[in-house]
Amino acid sequence: MSLEYSHLISNNRKWAESKKDSNPDYFNTLSLRQQPNFLYIGCSDSRMPLDTYTSTEPGELFVHRNIANQVSVTDINLLSVLDYAVNVLRVKHIIVCGHYDCGGIRAAYQNSAAGLVGNWISPIRDLAIEFQSELDKIEDENQRLNRLSELNVIRQTENLMKTYVIQDALQKCTGCFEIHAWVLDLSTGLINELDIRDIK
Ligand SMILES: [Zn+2]
Repeated sequence: MSLEYSHLISNNRKWAESKKDSNPDYFNTLSLRQQPNFLYIGCSDSRMPLDTYTSTEPGELFVHRNIANQVSVTDINLLSVLDYAVNVLRVKHIIVCGHYDCGGIRAAYQNSAAGLVGNWISPIRDLAIEFQSELDKIEDENQRLNRLSELNVIRQTENLMKTYVIQDALQKCTGCFEIHAWVLDLSTGLINELDIRDIK
């Protein structure tokens, strides 16, 4: 599935042509402003372009991605994206989306990543230790890792709730936006919505 670099440019030309053919004003409208309803916080994995899985167009998803979709309250990059999404774009939904068969989750669980990546995913290792008794009951290792993917997404929504941006926004207006925890199943292409109603 390796694409040649030159195909990126030729594909781009064809895509832009087809968009203009179906709607001559498409790019004029797109270049004026963005008004997305959704902030997507997802994994950097190349199999995770959420716009493809949700058939959304440019202008509909505001995006922050990093390895294993971490929400760190000290990550100025994520916090800036969150601030802009909530206070300027006024998105209606914030979606934290992980996926099954995540390399970051596997590396954290097996403690196999070194250097900066190892440091980045260390909170997932801590999470695996925290939930060790639950995870140990799952015999199949892939299923165990997939459960850890779910626990990770839930934990990241909890972290999201702790940020000043979200706490401040909730004081100003409850119900302005909703937070969602999703895990994408790469083997089916389907989104699994997790229940996070109890998270405060
Ligand atoms: Zn991943």
